[in-house]
Amino acid sequence: MKKILWLLILLIAFQTLRAGFDDFFLKQSLRVDYYHSGNAGSEFFSLKTLLHEPFWGGSLNQLVDTMNFGNHKVEVYDLAEGKLIYSRGYSSLFAEWQTTAEAKLVIKTFEESALIPFPKNPVLFRICSRDSTGVFTNRFEMKINPNDYFIRPAGSQKWPVADIHISGDPATSVDIVVIPDGFRASEMDLFLQKASDFARYLFQFEPYAGHSNKFNIRAVLAVSDSSGVAVPAEGFWPETVVSSSFYTFDSERYCMTTAHHRLRDIAALAPYDQIYILTNTTKYGGGGIFNFYCLSSALNQSSPEIIVHEFGHGFAGLADEYYDSSTSYESFYELTLEPWEPNITTLVDFASKWQDLLKPETPVPTPDSAEWEGVTAVFEGGGYTAKGMYRPSRDCLMHTFKGKVFCAACNRAIERMIDFYTK
Ligand SMILES: [Zn+2]
Repeated sequence: MKKILWLLILLIAFQTLRAGFDDFFLKQSLRVDYYHSGNAGSEFFSLKTLLHEPFWGGSLNQLVDTMNFGNHKVEVYDLAEGKLIYSRGYSSLFAEWQTTAEAKLVIKTFEESALIPFPKNPVLFRICSRDSTGVFTNRFEMKINPNDYFIRPAGSQKWPVADIHISGDPATSVDIVVIPDGFRASEMDLFLQKASDFARYLFQFEPYAGHSNKFNIRAVLAVSDSSGVAVPAEGFWPETVVSSSFYTFDSERYCMTTAHHRLRDIAALAPYDQIYILTNTTKYGGGGIFNFYCLSSALNQSSPEIIVHEFGHGFAGLADEYYDSSTSYESFYELTLEPWEPNITTLVDFASKWQDLLKPETPVPTPDSAEWEGVTAVFEGGGYTAKGMYRPSRDCLMHTFKGKVFCAACNRAIERMIDFYTK
């Protein structure tokens, strides 16, 4: 009798532990398309459409985000129990634009989407942004009933999907969907070759090389009407499938797209965790935003380094470690706060960063001299900021492409993120 009782207790405990994905979600996605508007000092969110997508590429057990990365966070609460059942941090092009001079002069609207596993029961959906002290605060919320007949099936785009590198189940893999921009129908073979190069390039670099069996890469063969991508300063505006453009925020090499909802319509054709856009141009440029999307030129000779650099932003939330190149940002980081990115520090809370990777004899901050070349340390200058911001290494793929390696802090951050997706 006692044995049966113990078995019963164990069974209940096991069921409680397992209470998770299948209790709350289908293995499909609910996409919330919204507009993110405002200026340098204000923001507001407005709903556009709810969509039902056929795939869920994310984890089935890492439902609540433990990373605390990103400028924003989406939260999903089970309405009946009031319990947090899903959350994910991310950043946005809007948040970057807020730090430009233009944002002091005009109000703008950007398209964004939140992708969550499709709920079985009514939920409270919430978007949070960090306030001036870095704490996530509620900016938008709505109740969503999964049986609402206004939730539209996704499927406005119909393109073939090609498997580039398949390792396993999307639930335990990092799934990247590669999307072409500026490739006409006659250039799809070239895109497929570039999508294969993307995989080859990514796995040339550690720590990706040692974990290639944890990645799935699929390519959507979405055709553009014209070849190339927009270069506004040259009056070049081709008709392309996701409307990528150089001169984002008037910075020549910053190539991004604001057609975010169209981009998500194309990405919806495959299970994905990360979106990577390859543009049909030899012109140097690209960009990457954490859990948003990445983009780079497919035909530039620096492509391998650009790919891992931008993917570092999009996948692992890594900051730029450079501080000596021109950008359009004004005071991108608040120097009295510890930034959330794992590879830069203001020393406000260095213990939360790579302090444990330092040898005891390493001075903090560390002199930026040849003596400390290749050593994990604390060099002043990083995150577009020459003073008051520090980086882990004299060089890193998040700084220049000279050494072709990630510093120890970036390497660890990427490995932790791979674990988060695959464990
Ligand atoms: Zn680094």
